[in-house]
Amino acid sequence: MNIQSYVKGEWFSGQGDGVQVVNAINGDFIGSVSSDGMDFGDVLRYAREVGGPALRRMTLHERALRLKALAQHLMEHKEEFYEVSAWTGATRADSWIDIEGGIGTLFSYSSLVRREFPNETFLVEGNQERLSQQGTFTGRHILVPREGVAVHINAFNFPCWGMLEKIAPSLCAGMPVVVKPATVSSYLTEKMAREIIGSGLLPDGAFQLICGRTGDLFDHLMEQDVVTFTGSASTGRKLKSHPGVTANSIPFNMEADSLNLSLLGETVEPGSAEFDLFIREVAREMTVKAGQKCTAIRRAIVPAGRVEAVDEALKQRLDRLPLGDPSVDGVKMGPLVGRSQMEDVWENVNRLIGSCEILYGGSREFEITGGDRDRGAFFPATLLYCGQPDNATEPHDIEAFGPVCTVMPYTDIDEAVLLAKKGRGSLVGSVFTSNDAEARHIVLNTAAWHGRLLVINSDCAGESTGHGSPLPALVHGGPGRAGGGEELGGERAIKHYMQRTAIQGSPTTLMRLTGEYHQGAAPLTDKVHPFRKYFEELQIGETHDSYRRTVTEADIVNFGCLTGDFFYAHFDETAAANSLFGKRVAHGYFLISAAAGMFVDPAPGPVLANYGLENLRFIEPVGIGDTIRTKIVVKQKIKKDKRPDDTRATGVVRWAVEIINQDDKTVALYDVMTLVERRDD
Ligand code: NAP
Repeated sequence: MNIQSYVKGEWFSGQGDGVQVVNAINGDFIGSVSSDGMDFGDVLRYAREVGGPALRRMTLHERALRLKALAQHLMEHKEEFYEVSAWTGATRADSWIDIEGGIGTLFSYSSLVRREFPNETFLVEGNQERLSQQGTFTGRHILVPREGVAVHINAFNFPCWGMLEKIAPSLCAGMPVVVKPATVSSYLTEKMAREIIGSGLLPDGAFQLICGRTGDLFDHLMEQDVVTFTGSASTGRKLKSHPGVTANSIPFNMEADSLNLSLLGETVEPGSAEFDLFIREVAREMTVKAGQKCTAIRRAIVPAGRVEAVDEALKQRLDRLPLGDPSVDGVKMGPLVGRSQMEDVWENVNRLIGSCEILYGGSREFEITGGDRDRGAFFPATLLYCGQPDNATEPHDIEAFGPVCTVMPYTDIDEAVLLAKKGRGSLVGSVFTSNDAEARHIVLNTAAWHGRLLVINSDCAGESTGHGSPLPALVHGGPGRAGGGEELGGERAIKHYMQRTAIQGSPTTLMRLTGEYHQGAAPLTDKVHPFRKYFEELQIGETHDSYRRTVTEADIVNFGCLTGDFFYAHFDETAAANSLFGKRVAHGYFLISAAAGMFVDPAPGPVLANYGLENLRFIEPVGIGDTIRTKIVVKQKIKKDKRPDDTRATGVVRWAVEIINQDDKTVALYDVMTLVERRDD
């Protein structure tokens, strides 16, 4: 069987014999992988000329909805992926992270986009910047999709998740993708890609797959492209310095191997909850995916006086995690993905032994349950001990990408911090302690060297997502050795595939260009009150000025009695005279309540609910006898998708509200969000 690529709208088989890929448990032949004969320049052109324009015609919400439908489609086929994932040596739990964890990322990005972004083809970011005295010249940032192709190169350990966590933000941003999985596990990526294509949910050219080598692909990269890479630091560095990347200033996001750590706090006693949690996490990270996780704990840094207790407890734990064929009952850890990876890990363990002793495993003599010892890629859980971690370089430098971890002692917390930094930058670190002062010291002194840090104690352990799990909402990536990249992290990931451009012009031009009201833009007025208008009838910039109201002492007294807020600035004549204001002033909350009374049109109509209030600033005090009025402007409209159980179609209208006094001074500024019915569904 040929493991195929999908390029230029069709499945492609490479010429020649290709690379043979085999089952990690028994060495059975799965297929051969080749991309020979592929025109890589054409693949990139197809993405840029066919996929890119189709995606850019869609709004962010439309792209996000396709992603959700795709996630649902893949979920319906998940058992087929589990079946193939087993060939990589994964247990059911390992496969869950890869398959359902990956599909979960699609759901997550789909919902983030529909919740946080407008239903537009581009984004408006940050605040309006005032650039001139009179306010006629102003500035704002926008983000548009890059007009190239996102090339995603993945490591072998997460054939599904690795692909999905990268395509989700690219496709949401409006960039077509070319996915290149690692050859050894490409058959699983291909299996999922067949469903992605089969679903018909993505526009032609939005998704292409290259199984096998990438040939001269990098020579055809252009200025608007993006490359992301996950894999070893050596390959990453090579690709990042390719002339195709450097000459075109192509953003290159790199996720590389790192020496992640877990640190047991100085105050943690054996037998305490935090001690047991530490042992459980180190053993779990060693054995999940047979340690083939970029986030796995490679260095367990423990107080010198706890080494013996940690050693004992870890051995007991690892004894309960038998190695073998995951389809056999009781087996908790499968083989590595292939025998060449297995030999790599042996080689690295042998290098580590230069400065470490073996506490557990580490020998070619070991038991397996099921599977084929000679043809499979089994590797025993191996625990090492480095007694002089200050002087040794190997355990801070060599990543054995398998079930291998080195225990190292520290004498005080500052030494622990130094050891943490010796990894020269990692994806993740964890600290196990119930002492928050200790946690604070470690976190603040090591954060610069980590992409993610988690502090585990018995309060959060029950619900913790664990040391090894990157999450869609949080940054995944690390400085230095870990590649210096940043993936995921919520909306940051989407913006990675967009160009941020500063736009300058008149407020009215910027309003028309962005579809958002900009202060100073020409007002639009109408005899009809805006609360009487349906979503689609409201225009950006539409303004309503209210009647005036003089604030009286009765207002302050009534509001104080109603709310119980008798703060001295409103009620104590003497204290108020000595206060910042020099006199009694109205409650700020009275002003926004009074403003609501002034700007609403009270009769039932298309405005269904008040959604919230943001960016509130009180600018000038309002005293007894001051006269206020309000101005509301339609600032932004966000059309909401009608869900099957929604009785009405709606949109969110953001109103810029300004409260102004008798001297035409602004006393308060804020945004109010209302839910408004629409009839254009
Ligand atoms: P690798 O050998 O560096 O390969 C990574 C990817 O690069 C594979 O798809 C590989 O394809 C491709 N590649 C290799 N040479 C290339 C070239 N000249 N041009 C274009 N593509 C090329 O790493 P791996 O063995 O697959 O993965 C294991 C490593 O990845 C470990 O060190 C691990 O720590 C790291 N990793 C890091 C993260 C992270 O998020 N930081 C995640 C997972 C893994 P072929 O397979 O066809 O060679």
